[in-house]
Amino acid sequence: MIVLKFGGTSVASMLKIDQAVSIAEASLDECPVLVSSAMGDTTDLLVDITASAASGNREATRRSLDSIRESHLAAARLIESTEIRSVCEADVERYVHELESLATGVSLIQECSPRTQDAILAFGELLSTRIIAARAMDRGINTRLVDSRDFILTDDSFTKAVVDIERSYAAIRDSVGTSSGTLIVAQGFIGRTRSGVTSTLGRGGSDYSAALIGAALQAERVEIWTDVDGIMTTDPRLVPGARTVMHMSYDEAAELAFFGARVVHPSTIQPAIDRNIPVYVRNTSRPDRAGTQIHRGVTATGVRALATKSDVSVITVRSSRMLNAYGFLAQIFAVFDRHRISVDLVTTSEVSVSMSIDDDRNLVELQRDLGSLGTVEIERKQAIVSLVGQDIWKDSRTVARVFGVLAGIPIRMVSLGNSDVNLSMVVGQEQVTDTVTRLHTEFFDRDGSFPADEVQSVR
Ligand code: ASP
Ligand code: MG
Repeated sequence: MIVLKFGGTSVASMLKIDQAVSIAEASLDECPVLVSSAMGDTTDLLVDITASAASGNREATRRSLDSIRESHLAAARLIESTEIRSVCEADVERYVHELESLATGVSLIQECSPRTQDAILAFGELLSTRIIAARAMDRGINTRLVDSRDFILTDDSFTKAVVDIERSYAAIRDSVGTSSGTLIVAQGFIGRTRSGVTSTLGRGGSDYSAALIGAALQAERVEIWTDVDGIMTTDPRLVPGARTVMHMSYDEAAELAFFGARVVHPSTIQPAIDRNIPVYVRNTSRPDRAGTQIHRGVTATGVRALATKSDVSVITVRSSRMLNAYGFLAQIFAVFDRHRISVDLVTTSEVSVSMSIDDDRNLVELQRDLGSLGTVEIERKQAIVSLVGQDIWKDSRTVARVFGVLAGIPIRMVSLGNSDVNLSMVVGQEQVTDTVTRLHTEFFDRDGSFPADEVQSVR
């Protein structure tokens, strides 16, 4: 069987849904499970609703609800079969009505708990898959719409629920019976707690849902359909000459995803790695292109892609007590742990530790708590630029080239990731484009700098 996951932009309108359904239809004999995100920016609108309802802003809440209702009905209206259309429209109206009731509840108590937020956010995927399944049936495809909450089983850390993997795998095997000629449609992003309450896996979590389903059913492959031609050498909005990388190792992709490449969610990779299932990243609007294949057995080494992560803060703790002391780092990390903030890069000297975080929640509290360990300095508006590739710094000439081309750009932190697949540095946010452009020119645009069979042009 195969899993085909479509992101929000790939199902943003009936036109896009039709493209997605056609892609699934072409592989009906491979027992496909189509996993979908919410249509377009629906999830963002749902987040807006939680905020506007909680602050008692009825007008804004109304506007977002109307916009969700309209966009989904506009799609449903294009279903040709009168019968399928009227059932689908009625379901959309019913979902929107439930959503309105929840929003009214939130506006009455002027508070939206994480649990209620998840109940609200789940409607995005419930609505999109309802319409996708109806359209597939409308086109004469044997279709079964399933409810992912029946088999993505989570704990109750709402808004970022943790999946109970073994229980979910068993439930997926029990309830998602694939068969040749039948299209199964499932929601990404949503799950259910032990006590039966709707939860979500965190923003962008649909990829993870897809990988879990693929892993449970030992899929031949998981295809992530998005709006770009796979994983690129770098963000094409920063460097117009960016190209698709056709093959990537899991490690490289995981590093890239972690360091902010928008195409694949980092935790997507894990269930697939564990079961050795190849993951493809492909462009819904250009199904003729192969996109990027992430799999074991990639042998290319050296710099393969550049990733950036903006809105990073760097926190430095200085203390002479660090000198020859043990347990100091542990105390620092205990503070991060308490605030549930994860640290990306760390550099240390005898008397200071610098850490980058991409989360500026709780900065004031963090600063206060770290203050008992030393003097604390926080620099905001920083960015991480990462070079990713297998054995990237085995060849010390790579490091020399990096610093050679970056002469003149102030570099705040450097980390040669111990995994051998990344070399990361922190620069000021305003230096990102310049940094990435220089690196791209050095590593990808010079003759022979990139094996020709490894790239396909996007233009
Ligand atoms: N719809 C959810 C979001 O926008 C999940 C996803 O798209 O993966 O975050
Ligand atoms: Mg989305």
